Amino acid sequence: MKKLSIIVPCYNEEDVVSLFYQETHKAVTSIPDLDYEFIFIDDGSKDHTLDILRVLSCQDKNCHYLSFSRNFGKEAAMYAGLEQSCGDYCVIMDADLQHPPVLLASMYQALTQEGYDCCAGKRIGREGDGALRGFLSRSFYKIIQNMTHMDMSDGAGDFRMMNRKMVEAILQMKEYNRYTKGIFSFVGFETKWLEFHNVQRAAGTSKWNLGSLFSYAFDGILSFSTAPLKLPGILGAFLLLLSFLLGGLGLAQQIFFHHNMGTLYFVSDIVIFLSSLQMMMIFILGEYLSKDYLENKNRPIYIVREQDSKPAAANVYDITPIRRNAI
Ligand code: UDP
Ligand code: MG
Repeated sequence: MKKLSIIVPCYNEEDVVSLFYQETHKAVTSIPDLDYEFIFIDDGSKDHTLDILRVLSCQDKNCHYLSFSRNFGKEAAMYAGLEQSCGDYCVIMDADLQHPPVLLASMYQALTQEGYDCCAGKRIGREGDGALRGFLSRSFYKIIQNMTHMDMSDGAGDFRMMNRKMVEAILQMKEYNRYTKGIFSFVGFETKWLEFHNVQRAAGTSKWNLGSLFSYAFDGILSFSTAPLKLPGILGAFLLLLSFLLGGLGLAQQIFFHHNMGTLYFVSDIVIFLSSLQMMMIFILGEYLSKDYLENKNRPIYIVREQDSKPAAANVYDITPIRRNAI
């Protein structure tokens, strides 16, 4: 019998994780001839998420968890989950039920009967995300697609089921600065897209704010494109031409019109503008350098503090789900 590993990164998800387990358990056990395992990754939660995971793993022998020593981020959590998984197929799901468990059956069918290596959910609509976040996300995906020439479209997230071959290819990419959406696209494989309507998280709050989204977007571009490194060259060539033009104009004014009073304000403005451009270029170089610096240190992507086979403390916790928002 084939086995599906369900990988769930969790950060402060005490309000929703047991409801997630119930709904997903229902969906996965309704698929015939399929064994399953849940791998929850507690990404350094500061609430009772870990207590709930301990209880779930006691109640269901197919339910496993690992808990990080601190918050390493969702990217590290997904990597850890894939590394720990032993299923023939793996699916990555958010704990907040924004990735509908009912799609698991169709994803499984795409992999087992339609010959795909991967079946990925593509979210349509951005209800509940806010107009500004929606606009910025759409713009970011357009920019990153153009810069990297890889398929990273808006709505294509981490919710996807993959076969073991694809999982092993992802696990070979051991980079510290992880941008998993780019990694999915980099490794390739035949992917079927399944559209689903965006839903609000069932309970709890999103872990992202505009600042963290900006830095995530920037990291994505730096991880998969070296195009920004070409900017200083392009800008330098443009400025060289401009300087020839301005120099020529100044000379012509002096020779033909005898005007030698330069517009001081204009010139100083240009100097400040050029200095700011130089600073920006140095910043881009610094960002690449810092990424390379971290990669060279070869630090672990995550550190485990506790695992279901080795619980740090026994705890009894009431895991009755709290249903706050509509699913
Ligand atoms: N998450 C995580 N580590 C983090 C932030 C988020 O493991 O540092 C998990 C979170 O618990 C959830 C998933 O990643 O299961 C998606 O997070 P969230 O719902 O906050 O993101 P959004 O849907 O708002 O993009
Ligand atoms: Mg969410």
